[in-house]
Amino acid sequence: MRTVFVNGEYLKENEANISIFDRGFLFGDAVYEVTAVLGGKLAEFDNHMNRLKRSLGELDMALEMDKDSLLAMHRELVVRNNIEEGAIYLQISRGAADRDFLFPSDETPTTIVAFTQEKSLIDTPLAKRGMKVNLVEDLRWQRSDIKTVQLLYSSLMKSRAHKAGADDVWLARDGMVTEGSSNNAYIVTYDGEIITRPLSTDILHGITRQSLLSYIQKEGLKLTERAFSIEEAKAAKEAFVTSASAFVIGVISIDGEAIGDGKVGSMTKALREIYINETLKALI
Ligand code: PMP
Repeated sequence: MRTVFVNGEYLKENEANISIFDRGFLFGDAVYEVTAVLGGKLAEFDNHMNRLKRSLGELDMALEMDKDSLLAMHRELVVRNNIEEGAIYLQISRGAADRDFLFPSDETPTTIVAFTQEKSLIDTPLAKRGMKVNLVEDLRWQRSDIKTVQLLYSSLMKSRAHKAGADDVWLARDGMVTEGSSNNAYIVTYDGEIITRPLSTDILHGITRQSLLSYIQKEGLKLTERAFSIEEAKAAKEAFVTSASAFVIGVISIDGEAIGDGKVGSMTKALREIYINETLKALI
């Protein structure tokens, strides 16, 4: 049984509780981060905590633990749960107060919850096989840059796609791909150009995206940050996604139409290797 963190305490998962009035539960009034664990160490931790601060700031919510305490807590969870490879989920909600659309007073403490998920990240069947994605209209709220727990639309779309035999969905607005249900989206053209949507309120500012783009630039590969259309995606040589727990994973079909030769592409494979190697060098 896991040991989890709730508001400063380490508890067995079946003894941990939060209030039924918690605003994360009632309003989706909460933000989160997922940090990968590799070899018992944390990947991209500073970047995740910087984005956490930004998400909280955008929602006028306070961060009631400093970065050092958050780091110590993440490490404690890794040790207590003996995690070699997996992820740490951290969620901060605006706390518990009688249900009201108005935010509670600033004195109301936030609810800070964290738990571990043990799983293979590097050696996974999906990374080898590649993902089949279906396209759906992006009908999420228009602040997708804030990492809130309001994930129902993406969860619904992914679940329906799964039932229809796909692995995930790509979201599109006005005929242009925004991102995946829980990952950033990229295509590679037959000229070897890597294309991904630029940062805006339309997409989550992925930590994996940020690091991967810097490695792509360092390698001198052709990179363009611009929106790409559904037609361009279907006509691409390769497609892939990035996220903190998937790293880089190939997309082998879109709406049942094969991308390139229908296998994980060589650029995708190379970028996955580069990302994993660079990340392993910088674990804390
Ligand atoms: N977009 C969305 C909608 C996501 O949920 C995620 C993962 N949380 C990402 C992109 C990828 O971000 P990261 O690389 O920081 O995991």
